[in-house]
Amino acid sequence: MNFTDEDMSQENSRRLRALFEMATDGIITMSSDGFIENVNQAACDLFGYAAGEMQGQKVNMLMAQYDRTHHDGYLKRYHETGDPHIIGIGRDVIGRRKDGHEFPLRLAVSEVKLDDRTIYTGILHDVSAFRKAKEEVEKLNADLENKVKERTAALRQREVELKLALGKERELNELKSRFLSMASHEFKTPLSTVLSSAELIELYVEPEQQPKRERHINRIKDAVNQLTEVLDDFLSLSQLEQGRVICKPKLIDVRALISTSVESSEGQFKEGQEVILELADEPRTLMTDPKLLRHVLINLISNAAKYSSPGMPVTIRSAGTKDYCSITILDQGIGIPEEDQPHLFDRFFRARNVENVKGTGLGLNIVNHYVSLMGGRIEFTSKLGEGSSFTVHLPQDNSVL
Ligand code: ADP
Repeated sequence: MNFTDEDMSQENSRRLRALFEMATDGIITMSSDGFIENVNQAACDLFGYAAGEMQGQKVNMLMAQYDRTHHDGYLKRYHETGDPHIIGIGRDVIGRRKDGHEFPLRLAVSEVKLDDRTIYTGILHDVSAFRKAKEEVEKLNADLENKVKERTAALRQREVELKLALGKERELNELKSRFLSMASHEFKTPLSTVLSSAELIELYVEPEQQPKRERHINRIKDAVNQLTEVLDDFLSLSQLEQGRVICKPKLIDVRALISTSVESSEGQFKEGQEVILELADEPRTLMTDPKLLRHVLINLISNAAKYSSPGMPVTIRSAGTKDYCSITILDQGIGIPEEDQPHLFDRFFRARNVENVKGTGLGLNIVNHYVSLMGGRIEFTSKLGEGSSFTVHLPQDNSVL
């Protein structure tokens, strides 16, 4: 069978028509002034119009509000300047269905020059599903990032907690070893005194050896007192740790409390050591816990005497206003090495220059806690070889704290 040119051209146009109709993307042709000429089935499905409802209408009927009002302007500008914003470029736009629903479209427009006029062909691809998937992926990514951030923060927090726990564990171990070395030293000396004195007493059997027996009995008593002091410190510390020490304020006479504290510290005084009192007239009374304050003063006065040579005085000063009271205990003793000063209130801490003096390194730690419980603060200054001065500042009435 032979095909004429006309047959061929009809065949071509049928094929093109079929291609146009069967395309999965919407295809719309429009005139240069923006009127729809042809639409395929996919375009009808996309916008929910029948072909007849679109043909002859302005193409901006298919656009969302903004483009709909500006479309004529776009065409005009293109005709005037020849500067394309969409033609031959392709763009993501928002389409509008007959029912008003708006949806994202990828639009590719090309200009087709026919013999007598120019038309535009638009190929429209619905990207709703793609957009939705993209949004979901973005959301998943954001969720994932948030989860990673949360996990990282949790890990960091855990790391900080572990470091703290490790630090506490180390501190505890260090405390334990400091305690053991202090306890073995502080127990061993008085215990060996007790043992040697007891052995000697055993040998002094003659009646005229009574003075010797008495001397050793006194040594035993001193050693036992020394052990009791150490155990008292342990007890105070454990009561503090359990939160069992509470401040019970009473109106006290400052001078009277200072002098009873001096009397109770007398056991620590060396030969020729005297106490110089420089007490101000005010404040005469103070609202604070007398037990805690007495413990603090005895400790500071004992230290001042303990860490000074025989004959060196200990000065106690008081000062204050109606709002607070300061009590200073000053000595001219061995002083505290500068490098050791920052650790003075640490538990079991003893400065390097006190090896030959007995002590637990607990006193100042307890003093510091007691002063805080009374709502006050303690400070000190010291110079190696010249002496030290400890001052306790207390509020006049801590019952309001
Ligand atoms: P202890 O006297 O039982 O060792 P403290 O806690 O009372 O324990 O004192 C801690 C350390 O502070 C002492 O070991 C000593 O090194 C130093 N220290 C305290 N008071 C004085 C002082 N008045 N002069 C010199 N050093 C002092």
